[in-house]
Amino acid sequence: MNGNGRADDGNRVDTLDIATTRAWIRAAAAAVDRDREVLTALDAAIGDADHGANMNRGFTAVTAAIGGDYAPETVGQLLAKVGMTLISSVGGASGPLYGSAFRAAGRQLATPEADGDQLALALRAALDAVRALGAAAAGDKTMVDALMPAVTAFDDAVTSGAELRAAARAASDAADAGARATTPLQARKGRASYLGERSIGHQDPGATSTALIFAALADTLDARVAER
Ligand code: ADP
Ligand code: MG
Repeated sequence: MNGNGRADDGNRVDTLDIATTRAWIRAAAAAVDRDREVLTALDAAIGDADHGANMNRGFTAVTAAIGGDYAPETVGQLLAKVGMTLISSVGGASGPLYGSAFRAAGRQLATPEADGDQLALALRAALDAVRALGAAAAGDKTMVDALMPAVTAFDDAVTSGAELRAAARAASDAADAGARATTPLQARKGRASYLGERSIGHQDPGATSTALIFAALADTLDARVAER
């Protein structure tokens, strides 16, 4: 046990470095590719059936943009690149929203490694950016319904001294629960709002993709430990 009373077994993950951030974004791209038909089917029910294609186009462009000889000096630079690439490659509403989120998070992370407190601030900034751009409140049946509980869960975990891996898993679980909880809601923002009451009974596609992105972070941090 270390001075904090935690098991000091060498398996703690306390910071997110550039390599792990890159692995996270690649894992998110792989998850979007794997689930693109699911995302499209959800968007077919309450939108225009392009969310899977939009996200896959965006993350394919992102994978190319952060590969090869791209060598960011900070975690924030890498996330800014992700954000700018999503904005320029995704036509739908989700592109500018996710793009702004990654760019806002990136602005908080001007170091080669980010700790839990920095990441909590970055996630909060991402949520604020999505809300500033899309003006969605909790319960409007949008990605905010996954992002907001994830940010809160991450914050709570970090504040209570949890390691990054546990905080990311808590955020992922909260995003997943938040996405599932959009099903009975009536959409009040985005294309799905045009359906009025007919949007009830379907899970929101953007909340679902947000949960995928958080799951990719948690899985990537788990994999980092398994590699040791
Ligand atoms: P589009 O609606 O332009 O076809 P996508 O299908 O890629 O774009 O993305 C749809 C998702 O975007 C929705 O499921 C919702 O989660 C999210 N979204 C749409 N409008 C908003 C908004 N104003 N605020 C937050 N999220 C939104
Ligand atoms: Mg759509």
